[in-house]
Amino acid sequence: MKNFSAYLNTTGEIGYVEQVAEAIIYVSGLPKAKPDEIVIFETGEFGQVFSVQPNYVEILIFSKKNINQGTRVTRTNEVLKIPVGYELLGRVIDPLGKPLGNVKPLKTPTEKRPIDTPAAGIVKRRPVTKPFETGILLVDLAIPLGHGQRELIVGDRKTGKTSFLTRTILNQTRRGNICVYAAIGKKKLDVKKAEEFFAKNGVLDKIVIIASGSGDSTGVIYLTPYTAMTISEYFRDDGKDVLLVLDDLSSHAKFYREISLLGRRFPGRNSYPSDIFYTHARLMERAGNFITEKGEASITCLTVAEAAAGDLSGYIETNLMSMTDGHLYFDKNLFYEGRRPAINPFLSVTRVGKQTQTQLRRDVNREIMSFLSLYEKMQSFIHFGAELNENVKATLATGEMIINFFNQAINEVVPINLQIVAFSMLWANMWRRQDTAVIRTQLHQILQAYNSDKEIRARIDKLIENDSFNSLLGVLKAEGPQIIKAVSQKYGN
Ligand code: ATP
Ligand code: MG
Repeated sequence: MKNFSAYLNTTGEIGYVEQVAEAIIYVSGLPKAKPDEIVIFETGEFGQVFSVQPNYVEILIFSKKNINQGTRVTRTNEVLKIPVGYELLGRVIDPLGKPLGNVKPLKTPTEKRPIDTPAAGIVKRRPVTKPFETGILLVDLAIPLGHGQRELIVGDRKTGKTSFLTRTILNQTRRGNICVYAAIGKKKLDVKKAEEFFAKNGVLDKIVIIASGSGDSTGVIYLTPYTAMTISEYFRDDGKDVLLVLDDLSSHAKFYREISLLGRRFPGRNSYPSDIFYTHARLMERAGNFITEKGEASITCLTVAEAAAGDLSGYIETNLMSMTDGHLYFDKNLFYEGRRPAINPFLSVTRVGKQTQTQLRRDVNREIMSFLSLYEKMQSFIHFGAELNENVKATLATGEMIINFFNQAINEVVPINLQIVAFSMLWANMWRRQDTAVIRTQLHQILQAYNSDKEIRARIDKLIENDSFNSLLGVLKAEGPQIIKAVSQKYGN
């Protein structure tokens, strides 16, 4: 960008700061200012026109530096643009596109894009048809997602939402897709942790992290999800499947509320401005499955919302639910019970994911969901202290085994083919009468074998060619014990 006097010469309009209200600055003397236009202060700071009033304009400022009354301001006739390109991969940047931290110097991409653009129309959209794999057993088997789906991740504080997302990112990068992670107003330490997790697993070069800290100016935090979406759109237009994670939009809403109240907008429900729904919906609309010049490409958007005390009916949460294609509910009670991930399958929804499934996966899915609901019912039974018959006892034992099977270590992602085969082995009682610790070890060994042994991998992948659950179980009768044996010979102790 040019400097203050260069802009002053071209636009010829000079304004003065009248009043400063933290992130919002009132400026008079810019009669031709347009909404979203960038203005520049004589001190070198930038801001964006937030609203235009008859005698003054409100400017949203992007820095924390104090601006004094009487400072001169001029228009630029430009909107906010950020650099986009493959150079951003492996980097942590701020929402204005500047690199953070002291890693290798950033080769600045040459292309720039405005960050707030309208969503693509119906002509460019395609139905969601490709399955999206998170690597988390409970989600892929029971609440499956599709590429281009928008899914809300909702739950109380500290229920494992971010750990779920970072593992999903890990799984997606391993499948060759690009991921964009927006940390909105997060602690620096949390961003660092995520970055280290990706670096440790060697996938950082497929990820762009856009981070704003709680100490940054409100204006910058507000921009974070838009920047992330714009970067995702760049990769999508290049024909890539992108996973975009917005962590989280409830704090984004809070920062937007702060700005709006400072800008004296009329407060609505819970003091949020009346356009909060529009603000988020316009953003979420930009995700989906599209047809581009380079073929079909998608932006899968996983959006986090924080619920308070397990309440799913909060204002922002319900808004977001109505903009997305379903939600995964992270249940605090399940988290305290020790379930990892603490997703409640009965209160979670996926609206388009199931249509992407093969017949085999659909069978497995149906089997799991009907069994889990049976198990839930039986559990309420025990509370009455009723005498249990053998059938009920068997169901409870199987249920416990399946719940344990879904418990996943914090760094573990499981490829989908292995998920299906491992579940089928469990279902076919191949590990019956062994305690959960043994099953866990064996599962871990199979995972190890699947990742490193071509032959075992081929055998497992071949099983997935069965087109129904029943035929898979049939083949597994002979093949299953052999796989278990081969694995424990190689990796057992
Ligand atoms: P916040 O509300 O702060 O964003 P969150 O919902 O994103 O929290 P996380 O930070 O992901 O939750 O996780 C909370 C805690 O639970 C962390 O200490 C994490 O180590 C632990 N945790 C999450 N998932 C697992 C797991 N699968 N196994 C073991 N520990 C886990
Ligand atoms: Mg989190």
